[in-house]
Amino acid sequence: MSAGALDLVASPVPVPAAGEVLVHVLACGICRTDLHVIDQEIPVHRPGVTPGHQVVGRVTQLGADVEALSIGDLVGVAWLRHTCGACDWCRAGSENLCPHSEYTGWDADGGFADTTVAPAAYVYPLAADVDPITTAPLLCAGIIGYRALSRANLPPGGRLGLYGFGSSAHLVAQIAIAFGARVSVMTRGAQNRELARKLGAGFVGEEASVPPDPLDSAIVFAPDGALVPVALAATRSGGTVVLAGIEMSDTPSMSYEASLFRERDLRTVTANTRDDGRRLLDVAASLRLTPTVTTVPFEQLDQAIDDIRAGRARGSLVLVVDDQGGPT
Ligand SMILES: [Zn+2]
Ligand SMILES: [Zn+2]
Repeated sequence: MSAGALDLVASPVPVPAAGEVLVHVLACGICRTDLHVIDQEIPVHRPGVTPGHQVVGRVTQLGADVEALSIGDLVGVAWLRHTCGACDWCRAGSENLCPHSEYTGWDADGGFADTTVAPAAYVYPLAADVDPITTAPLLCAGIIGYRALSRANLPPGGRLGLYGFGSSAHLVAQIAIAFGARVSVMTRGAQNRELARKLGAGFVGEEASVPPDPLDSAIVFAPDGALVPVALAATRSGGTVVLAGIEMSDTPSMSYEASLFRERDLRTVTANTRDDGRRLLDVAASLRLTPTVTTVPFEQLDQAIDDIRAGRARGSLVLVVDDQGGPT
């Protein structure tokens, strides 16, 4: 893989090591982070790695010492795939900050493939009857969005602003609205604004537009540092702005008075814990959370990635690898 493009390659089926499972991929969500890996906007961890970290698939082989999963189980393979378990952060319940953490589709081959291997301890068991295509985007867009929402200090019935409205934001909007929030969406792309209105956002505008009332909380999903002072200025005294991306352009210099003073908190999100994942999957099941999905066959993967790059994608894009349910 060179920067900016994907190559289709034939590789031997990987063999699961002790503690790992082999997963037959059914569907894999496409995330903006996959673009950052492909475009080498985040450091290369493994040259030629296969991206894709929102995998729904079926376990077809167990490595040694795997007891919690069985052959035939439907599972989700997500971004976080290893933490040390011993550092200060791991021991404090913040394994997302572990300096020894490893990630699917960055440190190890991911789900833009027929098969992938994953550590069993980081795999999410799924109900046998879930739809692989609408479940795949939950595994990063959903989990990261949920963590961002959890860090946003949104009061009950509060006003939440979302800057950027891709796969993650359109799931957060649905969760927040279901819990009684009033949601404003500021985003580029007419089709994104149309989806925001359809999902129940009260105010919908261009990316840097100002919502009619001050926000209690804002989440910036767009990887554009110029939006940080915009979001802070739209947030009330004592409010919180969360930056949800793994990568962002530089933040411009900001007026302390206009941006931060009056106890506005600026926070970031870094990956997620397995607990975040389990809680998001529970919330998604209870709310019947359904992403707006465009399915993508292998031969259109490059085009789909270009669409995300250009802001043309609507909702979540999902690579469909096998729509027959896999081996039973
Ligand atoms: Zn650790
Ligand atoms: Zn992701």
